Amino acid sequence: MDTLINIHARQETGDRNSGVTTAATETAGSDRLAVAAYRRVLIVEDEATLRRAMARNLTGRGLAVSEAESAEAAVDAVTHDRPDLILLDINLPDRTGWDVLRDLRRRQTEVPTIVISAVRANASRMEEFHPLAYLPKPFPIEALLRLVFPCSIGRRELGQNDDS
Ligand code: CA
Repeated sequence: MDTLINIHARQETGDRNSGVTTAATETAGSDRLAVAAYRRVLIVEDEATLRRAMARNLTGRGLAVSEAESAEAAVDAVTHDRPDLILLDINLPDRTGWDVLRDLRRRQTEVPTIVISAVRANASRMEEFHPLAYLPKPFPIEALLRLVFPCSIGRRELGQNDDS
């Protein structure tokens, strides 16, 4: 039942950008697998500990994860790895995460993005780039997993392999 509610909620929030369809109907009723709406995720985060923790949690649940620790590396990674989701830190060593989004837009390679920031996300930038979600740091890993696995992840699964 939770599964159905979550699917419904996701449809109502409707990410216009993602173009992502989930295997929701096939997995409704199954509580065994966490089914991601995404397969290839790019993590852009200069804090190595946090980046690795996120990568470990997503890789452990079957996603293909690539990592970047700067804005420049992020733009390169989008070009080469073609992720279908970006987890994007805003405060990066070379430029900001917003600069990354601006660059991708210019190249017409926009990708659904979850913005991660220790400082409050700038409202006008949120308006400009309308990310899927904004995750304030610090966040429990469950908060991230609920965004990446909106369909079928349950408490029991979240309890396993918890790196928070
Ligand atoms: Ca940072």
